[in-house]
Amino acid sequence: MEVKEITQNQDPVLSPMQTYDHEQVVFCQDNKTGLRAIIAIHNTTLGPALGGTRMWPYKNEMEALNDVLRLSRGMSYKAAISGLNLGGGKAVILGDSRTQKSEALMRKFGRFVDSLGGKYITAEDVGMSPKDMEYIRMETNHVSGVPEFLGGGGDPSPVTAYGVYMGMKASAKKAWGNDDLSGKKVLVQGAGHVGQYLIDHLVKEHADVMVSDIFDDKLKEVTDKYPHVMVADADSVYDTDMDIYAPCALGATVNDDTINRLKCEIIAGAANNQLADEKVHGQILMEKGVLYAPDFLINAGGLINCYSELEGYNRDRAMKGAEEIYDTTMRIYAYADEHSMPSYKAANIIAEERINSIAEINKRL
Ligand code: NAD
Repeated sequence: MEVKEITQNQDPVLSPMQTYDHEQVVFCQDNKTGLRAIIAIHNTTLGPALGGTRMWPYKNEMEALNDVLRLSRGMSYKAAISGLNLGGGKAVILGDSRTQKSEALMRKFGRFVDSLGGKYITAEDVGMSPKDMEYIRMETNHVSGVPEFLGGGGDPSPVTAYGVYMGMKASAKKAWGNDDLSGKKVLVQGAGHVGQYLIDHLVKEHADVMVSDIFDDKLKEVTDKYPHVMVADADSVYDTDMDIYAPCALGATVNDDTINRLKCEIIAGAANNQLADEKVHGQILMEKGVLYAPDFLINAGGLINCYSELEGYNRDRAMKGAEEIYDTTMRIYAYADEHSMPSYKAANIIAEERINSIAEINKRL
């Protein structure tokens, strides 16, 4: 099923839930702390719904609902395609993360998570800090992405970056018959947590790396370490010659404005929802001969890391899981070729097939 925006004409809640096939949406409200949050549980066929909590100053409730529904659905697909026994969930806290946080608000939110009895497991996402997660953990055990000193897996970014790197190499193999990235021009957009670890892998493989970021200090962190990495102006990314475009900053960067300007043969990066409209832009990329590595597949390392934590954390096992992204990416490309369809669609179908087949066995239990 393709991602669509919820329109203002629809009934506000149950109708969009039906569109995306969600199981449950929980609205959380507390006047004393000012908490306003939504927890969305998309599908628990494969296991408990795991997905981070995002704190964001949404313009309105509709925008927050739209975001949490889309993101939680994405988590179901990400877990399914990665072979994890997890469902898809996500939570959003409506508010400004710089000014509206308090211990009480986070702990109240933790109680709402706890009230779901493990059906939803939360983790850190945009706008949340390790300290916030500590407060949430005071009220519930249903938290993943726990710091290393508390027995968790810590920062998932190295595992995410390794998975992206594996997906990129598989894409190179598909596009050029060889997965060697040496000498390939790779532009990493976003020198954040994942971007920097990805650059490490690429530099070690002697790729010709370019980096862009909107903050000079982030760029300096990269160029101090690797003086030969070229800086690309953030605004000129879509007009720069490159072999591989690696979006590791924001979503929806492949859109009506950029798609015909992009000069690359492969798109493979960490950002979620890279295609502004997957149906439209996924199709155009296929027609243009640009290979698109489905984002929710190749950025699944973070989720693999969280999953490993639930089983008793082991970094080697998490990295091994991320390595498997190479083979899964190849499988998606083969399926897409066989059925003459865009890669995003092949990935969606394979994820749906796994959920549906396990739903069948669950029925028989
Ligand atoms: P981050 O916040 O550490 O890094 C993002 C970087 O992008 C920042 O340095 C920021 O300045 C930069 N940026 C923002 N707008 C930009 C623009 N227009 N042009 C260039 N750079 C810009 O985030 P992260 O943890 O590295 O994650 C990167 C992306 O990958 C995000 O979209 C995130 O949702 C996704 N992702 C991350 C993980 C993970 O494990 N961290 C897992 C799955 C997906």
